[in-house]
This record gives sequence, structure tokens and C-alpha cells, in this order.
Amino acid sequence: MSECIFCMVAKGEIPSRTVYEDDSVLAFDDIAPQAPVHTLIIPKTHYADLSDDVPAALLGSLFSVAAQVAVIKGIDKSGYRVIVNSGPDACQTVHHLHVHVIGGRPMSHGMVNFADRP
Ligand code: AMP
Ligand code: ZN
Repeated sequence: MSECIFCMVAKGEIPSRTVYEDDSVLAFDDIAPQAPVHTLIIPKTHYADLSDDVPAALLGSLFSVAAQVAVIKGIDKSGYRVIVNSGPDACQTVHHLHVHVIGGRPMSHGMVNFADRP
């Protein structure tokens, strides 16, 4: 999957602002942030989306790292939203599984509008 932009980010072939990294997972700031904090967490191995037979342990790591990112960014107490867009109806645009961590400002109730894009 050398054409996959998040595989390229994982390999360091596209620059990114790393927030957290371990053997299996990379967290980096979104290039078009929807809030003061907007970080993406990806598995270093390519999975297209949440329905791509992702090992449960890896899913656990992604969400555990989401909580760690909130601490690193100082939003664990104020709160944050964790979002996975999976497939066409969810408007997934990058087809390498990723978890959004969004916070640093209040968001409205409801799930319709992703991160409440202005
Ligand atoms: P989604 O709509 O869930 O597929 O979200 C894809 C996200 O990836 C969007 O929020 C984009 O702004 C973000 N994005 C795309 N390319 C890059 C990149 N090279 N570095 C960081 N974030 C990116
Ligand atoms: Zn990929």
C-alpha cells in the first residue's frame, strides 16, 4: 500500500507532527484541524477501515492511545470526542483506519456533524 498516505506517514515518507508513537501505533496532528486539538491515531499496519478484520488487541491499543493523547494534549479533564469514520456513508476520506481525537473547545450535542465543523 505504498500509495496510501497514512502508510507513508507511518514510514516517515510524509512529514507529520508526532504526538505519540510505539511499535504498532502512531498519533499525529491532523493537517486540517477542526478544533484546537485534533489528533489522528493510526495502526502502523494498513487496515482500510474498522471492518477490515482488525485484531481486537490493536483496536484496544488505538483507543488506549486516544486516552493517552488526551492527557498529552491536556484535554483529558475538559473532555474530548473520539470518532472513527468507516466507509462511504461516514464520509471516510483516507482509507487507512484512523481514530480522531478532537477537543479543546465545547462541542454541541449530537453526532450528526462529525466535529461540528464551523
Ligand atoms: P476521515 O474523513 O475520517 O477519513 O479523515 C481524514 C483526516 O485526515 C482529515 O481530517 C484530514 O484533514 C486528515 N489528513 C489528510 N491527510 C493528512 C496528512 N498528510 N497529515 C495529517 N492529516 C491528514
Ligand atoms: Zn495505509
